[in-house]
Amino acid sequence: MRCQVFISGGGVAGLTLGLILAREGIDTVVAERSPGGGLMYKGELLQPKSLKILDNLGLLGHLRRESFTVRTIRMQEQPVDPPPDGEPRRSSRDIVFDYGKLASPYDYALMHPHEELKQLLLDEAQALPSFRWIQPGSFTGLNRDADGRAVSATVDTPDGPLTVTADLFVGAEGRVSRMREEMNTVAKRTDYNHHFLTVSFGRPDTLDEATIISQGSRFLGLFPLPDQQVRTVFLIKPEEFKQMRREGLERFYREYREMRPDLEGYVDEIQRWKDIQLMIPFRHNANRYIRHNIAIMGDAAHNVHPMAGEGMNMAIQDADILGHLISWSYREQRDIEDSLPWYERVRRQRAQFISELSHLSALAYSFDQDVVRRARSHVLKRIEQSDYLHFKYMLNISGLGEWPENLFDRFRQLGVLPGGSSLSKAERLARRFREEEDYPWLSKVGSLAAPGTMNGGEKDA
Ligand SMILES: Cc1cc2nc3c(=O)[nH]c(=O)nc-3n(C[C@H](O)[C@H](O)[C@H](O)COP(=O)(O)OP(=O)(O)OC[C@H]3O[C@@H](n4cnc5c(N)ncnc54)[C@H](O)[C@@H]3O)c2cc1C
Repeated sequence: MRCQVFISGGGVAGLTLGLILAREGIDTVVAERSPGGGLMYKGELLQPKSLKILDNLGLLGHLRRESFTVRTIRMQEQPVDPPPDGEPRRSSRDIVFDYGKLASPYDYALMHPHEELKQLLLDEAQALPSFRWIQPGSFTGLNRDADGRAVSATVDTPDGPLTVTADLFVGAEGRVSRMREEMNTVAKRTDYNHHFLTVSFGRPDTLDEATIISQGSRFLGLFPLPDQQVRTVFLIKPEEFKQMRREGLERFYREYREMRPDLEGYVDEIQRWKDIQLMIPFRHNANRYIRHNIAIMGDAAHNVHPMAGEGMNMAIQDADILGHLISWSYREQRDIEDSLPWYERVRRQRAQFISELSHLSALAYSFDQDVVRRARSHVLKRIEQSDYLHFKYMLNISGLGEWPENLFDRFRQLGVLPGGSSLSKAERLARRFREEEDYPWLSKVGSLAAPGTMNGGEKDA
């Protein structure tokens, strides 16, 4: 089989790239190992930058109708010890982070079921003649020429091995990537002192806002989904999982109910441990994303702690940059191998930035000493109250721009310096990545043509 671009892995990364390329008429083959079916919890929070990219692909209208819109994230810190009279725990004042600080458009996030997003991308791509889908098809290795360039990929299918020749080979296989092995990259891994349990179930009407509850070393994230469901993420110590399973599901229900009494009658819908997924967080960022005519993207290139809800968004953002670059290379008849370094230049540093941000958020919940808890609460309040710090935080998690925190910001967060001045709408919008930052090759190489259907330009959402 011959194509222009071969993509190994039909997750959000591979499918978004496949759709972008197929829209440009580039002959694309995507191989997905899994035969489909089965529920695997993965990222569901679509951050504003991903919404902008999906809007440019014409999918935002559908997504908005089928998602839960997240405008704020409410943080509640509960006391560790229950009140002596058996009353429910009373949180200290809630802290509310507001996407509205970003200024429209894309001043909100969406909660959308992961498998439905993949299906939407796949349906769109399969309607295009330049897209081919192999499922199940497991990429097993590359065949190379004498200089080490990839010539073809071998894909195991139920009908036997298939050889796919292509100009470019992209690995989008998630955390464990055969393509990354082929590229011989190094990805140093950092582990954490906690794990998560994650599961979705029905939600009460009283739960209508994304909410994060912490109680000592406990952490419960509640993110409403459409169809009156809620995705939940519960932090545990690694050794606790076996203990909880021994004690039975009642222990699991109790943990949830203690933090959020109105989940009684909802969390109990979960009847088997099998339905609850154990998520082991770690982070890595590959030391290179490209080699010759081979590239990696999404979790294959970088994996971040899930605290800031960024993994899936980074996969979509990789696909956008790589998709624009490949399309431009074909249109301008440039050598793909010469163009690929642009992708690594834009995306690797941004992934590192988000990885640090997620890591810091993770650390804030990694220690349960009283002093750490109080510091966390104090810093979060300062960020919430300062228009400047609040905007910076929301901008950085949104993916729309990058505004690193400096030493003065740390002092502002601690309350040693005042919170900083308010920002006008124009100042907020000016902090977003400009087109020449997202697609620098267009201005640097002197091309006039931007990829047609995908060309940025903010739309009012
Ligand atoms: C339990 C869990 C919860 C998460 N929660 C969040 C969250 O709340 N927010 C968030 O933003 N992110 C979250 N993430 C991370 C997010 O889901 C990932 O960052 C995102 O799915 C990455 O997309 P991807 O396409 O790179 O990889 P994946 O989604 O892992 O897709 C890779 C695909 O490649 C296929 N594949 C693997 N090997 C081969 C092969 N050899 N040949 C062919 N196909 C292959 C796999 O079957 C899979 O379909 C979570 C991840 C997990 C595991």
